[in-house]
Amino acid sequence: MATDEQVQRVLEIYYDGLSCTECGASVRIGEYECAHCAMDFEVLLREWAGRVVDGLCEGGCGEVGQS
Ligand SMILES: [Zn+2]
Repeated sequence: MATDEQVQRVLEIYYDGLSCTECGASVRIGEYECAHCAMDFEVLLREWAGRVVDGLCEGGCGEVGQS
C-alpha cells in the first residue's frame, strides 16, 4: 500500500514532466516520439519511470527487485 508520502513524490515527478533532449519541447507521458523533431522517447520514458520507482522507494522499500 502506497503511503501519502510516496503518492506525493510520484505526483511531483509526474508534474515535473519531461522535455525533449533534442529540441526542448515538452513531452507528455504516453507519447513515444517528439511531435517536433520525431526523437524516440523510449530512453526518456525509461529514465522517467526509473525516477518514479526511486521516488516510491524514498520512503524505504529495499526489497524492490529481489523477490
Ligand atoms: Zn523534440
